[in-house]
This record gives sequence, structure tokens and C-alpha cells, in this order.
Amino acid sequence: MRISEIFHSIQGEGLCTGVPSVFVRTSGCNLRCSWCDTPYTSWAPEGDDLSVAEIVSQVNSYDCRHVVITGGEPMVSVGMPELTQHLQRDGFHVTIETNATRSPDGIAVDLASLSPKLANSTPDAALHPVEAKMHTESLRLKPDVIDAWLDYCACQLKFVVSSEDDITEIKDLLGRLTVPLPPDRVMLMPEGITPEVLAQRREMLIDLCKRHGYRYCSRLHIELFGNARGT
Ligand code: SF4
Repeated sequence: MRISEIFHSIQGEGLCTGVPSVFVRTSGCNLRCSWCDTPYTSWAPEGDDLSVAEIVSQVNSYDCRHVVITGGEPMVSVGMPELTQHLQRDGFHVTIETNATRSPDGIAVDLASLSPKLANSTPDAALHPVEAKMHTESLRLKPDVIDAWLDYCACQLKFVVSSEDDITEIKDLLGRLTVPLPPDRVMLMPEGITPEVLAQRREMLIDLCKRHGYRYCSRLHIELFGNARGT
């Protein structure tokens, strides 16, 4: 499995914000978000091929019981069921962060952080025609796959929001789901990879959350460390 980095930090997003965690970042993704904060796992993937045993050994070297599998898109990595099963067997609380375009078959997970990508993720078609086609709605939003996850395990649904207009697409997607999800499990997170941009969008997001009952989701790691690898 191609791994970009394994590191110890605190979770910066979602229900487990602030919890010390070991992050396993896979390399490779089926999307090419224009604002991707880890292009070294998507636009220009890099990393080393590690066996499941090598990954589990590195995770166990930290004095920490939470592990976050992130990417890239972890669900496109061959061997992911085996890795998560090993980690759960070793007693870890396993969170997986996914763009929710692949179903959860065989994954051993305590929390799935589903982050379906909105139209705002689409690259400029003039500059990146091939990558823009990877973001047609049917490729990036899969209500049936999201339903499968919601049915399978504890989930949070996290949207990266650039502008107030994104709420229309969010509402439309939520209306197409058949498995109920309480509004406080729907999280709106500002798009941005600098503390300054996050701050600019905060007020707009808080207002959206108040109006629709969703949960505001900060990006604590960027506020604390900037957009740096290994954090
Ligand atoms: S799905 Fe995630 S890793 Fe893939 S391109 Fe989008 S932001 Fe980057």
C-alpha cells in the first residue's frame, strides 16, 4: 500500500477534534480537487510502498490509541480492509476519512468521516480538462454509497464550503439520502489552507450553521500549525 506519511498529531477536524492520534496518510486519489490540501497524494502522488505489517508496526510505535486513516482517498488502496482489521484487533479506535465514492465493504472502523466533494472542488476545465471531467457530479457525489456508509457504522458528514451558495447543493444531496442522519452530524467546514482564509469564511459558515442546524467544523491543525506536512 502506498503511504505518503505516518505521524503523531492531534485530530484537527470533526467529532474527535483535539484527540491525539496517529495519522496514516495513503497516497492516491480518484478525484483532483482544485483546493486539495494534500496534492502530494492526489495531483502528484508520492510515497513508499509499505506492507500492512510495516504500517501496523509503525502505528504501534507511538503511545497512542487513536488512529486516523486518511489520504488521498484511502478506499482506493488495495489492502485497506486488512489494515483496518489489524488495527482494530490491536485495540485502536479507527477513524477513516473518505470522499465517500467507494462503499465500506470489509472495513473495520469506529468512525467514518465522509466528505463528499461539492461542485466547488472542480478544477478549471480550461487549465485541467482531464481532471475537471473526474469531477462530474455522478463521479464525486454518490448518494447510494453514502447511504451504505451510514448504514454500516458511526459517521459524520463533512462538507468543504467555499461560499454561501454551496448550501443548495448540500441540501439537495441530503434530500437524496435514505438513511436518516441527525443535523448535528452534518458539518460545514471552511475551504482554505491558511488561518487567514479560514477566518474570512468563519462568520459566513457560523451563520449557515445557525440557519440550518448543522455543526460548524474548524480546521484546528491549520489554525495551530499552518498547512504543514506531519501535522
Ligand atoms: S478527495 Fe481529498 S485527497 Fe482527493 S483530491 Fe480531493 S481533497 Fe485531495
